[in-house]
Amino acid sequence: MKVFYDKDADLSIVQGCTVAIIGYGSQGHAHANNLKDSGVSVVVGLRAGSASEAKAREAGLAVAGIEEATAAADIVMVLAPDEHQSALYADQIEPNLREGATLAFAHGFNIHFEQIRPREDLDVIMIAPKGPGHLVRSTYTQGGGVPTLIAVFQDASGKARDKALSYASANGGGRAGIIETTFRDETETDLFGEQAVLCGGVTALIEAGFETLIEAGYEPEMAYFECLHELKLIVDLIYEGGISNMNYSVSNTAEYGGLTRGPRVVGDQAREAMKKILADVQSGEFAREWVKENAAGAGHLKQLRDTSQNQPIEEVGAQLRDMMPWIREQRLVDRSRN
Ligand code: NAD
Ligand code: MG
Ligand code: MG
Repeated sequence: MKVFYDKDADLSIVQGCTVAIIGYGSQGHAHANNLKDSGVSVVVGLRAGSASEAKAREAGLAVAGIEEATAAADIVMVLAPDEHQSALYADQIEPNLREGATLAFAHGFNIHFEQIRPREDLDVIMIAPKGPGHLVRSTYTQGGGVPTLIAVFQDASGKARDKALSYASANGGGRAGIIETTFRDETETDLFGEQAVLCGGVTALIEAGFETLIEAGYEPEMAYFECLHELKLIVDLIYEGGISNMNYSVSNTAEYGGLTRGPRVVGDQAREAMKKILADVQSGEFAREWVKENAAGAGHLKQLRDTSQNQPIEEVGAQLRDMMPWIREQRLVDRSRN
């Protein structure tokens, strides 16, 4: 598979465009600031009265209404939440999109599952950083970037791919590596990864480990450090040099215990569950469930979020982190700013 870098991209393409970034959340704030710092003319498109408006202005960005920002742009990057994009596109974006403009996404959900059917005169591309928005911004400011997938769904101009590559480069992706894929593959692997491993699997593993220690009578503070806090140190080692690098750094006891016990925790049952999760992503079953959940007001999500926020590991964690001020000082998420 070919990996593209800054040298393969023509940055001047996106530098010659006005880019509207719709939404100023996790990805929106990162793309808007990274593109601006890469010499691109950016306008952030927000709903009237949006809580994000002050944050974007504070960062020195031009802000307009969604319709106005769309009408002014050569490239419109849709970074509102996935579940609101379909209505947003129909009501405010498409009627204002210039003839021959480029419509861009950071995730393929709405195009792949046909929640958005774009007009034929448009180029439709994806620039999907493979990392949370706060990391897309922080790595860029440190001179790095987040590996990025690009894809073309519709190529009306014949130049869609070059635009996607140019945008990815301006967003910092070309420093880490840009891979060309399809909307389908990005959507399916992204949903699988976040469900089975990154957001779902890891969290369930932390919680199960924590609860096992608590149920056996150990102190919650110790369980927190062992099953959650230390995970960062382990992931940093894996991120830096792979699983072998982590095993080189931990004790031989930890290495032997991990190699022999890990597959017991994630065994046949977990692998079967992963296959079913992937099958539900591929068949569109998960997408239908998520669209339905939102049509019903997302009550189940709110309930799950509430339960998750109020569990013991979150309470003891908040107290312990207060005693480690450096974590706060280097924080990625500052809700008043990004
Ligand atoms: P988010 O929830 O962090 O932010 C969305 C922003 O859009 C809000 O801050 C607000 O400014 C605006 N907004 C909210 N509701 C809106 C509405 N109803 N209409 C118009 N604007 C509204 O979103 P996000 O997590 O940055 O996701 C944006 C896109 O990026 C999605 O397609 C997502 O799949 C993709 N993506 C996100 C991440 C990530 O790190 N969060 C990573 C890769 C791709
Ligand atoms: Mg995702
Ligand atoms: Mg230990």
